[in-house]
This record gives sequence, C-alpha cells and structure tokens, in this order.
Amino acid sequence: MPLICLDPGHATLPAIAHQTEPIGPGSRVRKIKDGGGAPGEAPVALAIAQRTRALLERAGYRVAMTRSAPGYAGGNIARARFCNARRAALMIRIHADGSTDSTQRGVKTLVPALRRGWTDDIYTPSLSAARKVQAAVVRTTGAKDLGLVPRADLTGFNWADVPAILVETGFMTNPAEGHLLRTAAYQLKVARGLAAGAEAYAPMRRSTCKLRASIR
Ligand SMILES: [Zn+2]
Repeated sequence: MPLICLDPGHATLPAIAHQTEPIGPGSRVRKIKDGGGAPGEAPVALAIAQRTRALLERAGYRVAMTRSAPGYAGGNIARARFCNARRAALMIRIHADGSTDSTQRGVKTLVPALRRGWTDDIYTPSLSAARKVQAAVVRTTGAKDLGLVPRADLTGFNWADVPAILVETGFMTNPAEGHLLRTAAYQLKVARGLAAGAEAYAPMRRSTCKLRASIR
C-alpha cells in the first residue's frame, strides 16, 4: 500500500518559527523556518489535509501527516525528513496563497526546480505528480488554473528524498476565494482533487489484483 505524506503548512511554534535553516544540504543560504503564511492559511491547510487523509484512507492508502494540530515544533527540513523516513510515495505540501492584490485568485502547484545533488532524484516524478494533482484540483474546485511553478528556493523540496509538490489551493486574500477556502464544502472539493491526483500518480496495487481476479 502506498503511503502519502501530507504536510499542512505553517502553525509553527513561535519560538521555532523565526529560527533559520539551510535551504538545501550544504547550502550557506538560510531561510526562516516559518514566515507564518497568509492570514487564516494555517487552519485552512490543516482542515484540507484532514479531509484528504480521510478520503485517501477510505481508498486504502496509508497516510502520514507532519502535523495534525497547531504548534508544529520543526522547520521545513524536519517536514521533509518526516516524509523521507516513511519512504512516502508522494509528499503533498498543502498551502494557500496571499497577495496584496485582492483580485488574484486560482490554484497553482509548486514543483522542485532541477538541481544536481538536491532534487535530481525527485525532479521527474514530482513533475509528473504535480501535473496530475493540479489538473484534479482544478477539476474538482472549478478554480482558475495557474499551472505549475518550479521553485529552487524551497527548503522543504531541497531536503526531500521522495517526490514532493506544494499545492497553493487558492488565495486567502481574494474575498470570494478566501471565503470558499474557509468553508467545509470547498475544503472537501479541494481534498477530493488532492486525493484523486495522488491516486492517479500512485495507484493502489490492489486494484490491479482485483482486475486480474475479475478477468479470471
Ligand atoms: Zn503557505
């Protein structure tokens, strides 16, 4: 059974959030562990993750979550290592966007940029997963499709040894989308997309067996 690792962003303990850590193995560039995210983002990310977990478990997947409450006690290296240690088939980082331009709206998926020694092992599968998850979330939510965005500066990607993507599930700062993201009904739509995308990327082996059994 594939294990899907869900990483709801932010909600790091204040004493830890402002510490810095290297953005990749051996890097002298350091970034803050948690800048806090968009207003209202952390609880929305957690709610979407919990709904996604329920859907995936119902479909027979194993699911691990980096946090299941506020007050996370690590940085983005710790989040990546948590998923690495479990040999996740996919790490889905769940976030929502913020902008000073309140008309900005839509869903995008961030993917690791290619860098030898850091992401070359996960680059291609992460891109493949991102395409499937982005398409599925756009389909289930009807949100504007902002596509995929490669990022070289994300600590949580550069330390990942398993395929990793980060879904920006919408803009908290857009009045309409921000309202939707706070509703259970829309969180479930996002979760359905995340689960469907994960299932398309890492199908259950059991379904193949069932198919074989029915052929016999
Ligand atoms: Zn965020």
